[in-house]
Amino acid sequence: MESLPINLAIKRIEMHRDIHHLHEPQAIYISQSLDMAIEALKKQNPVKVTWDNNFCPICKCTIEFNHQNYCHKCGQKFDWNK
Ligand SMILES: [Zn+2]
Repeated sequence: MESLPINLAIKRIEMHRDIHHLHEPQAIYISQSLDMAIEALKKQNPVKVTWDNNFCPICKCTIEFNHQNYCHKCGQKFDWNK
């Protein structure tokens, strides 16, 4: 099976979460889990960074190494291409 673009996967999980939420009184348990999955997936979607402005756009911490792949604090994936 081909892998989905991250944004499409997030959209599908959100739809699934909302359907559970509407129809099941116990949905809070699966909703919490799906929200965690969505947060983890969002961090896999690279955000643009530059060494001239070397802080994580998500958590604002300083990026320690040029071209590090992920934020050491929040786990956000970085895109160093201009
Ligand atoms: Zn960060």
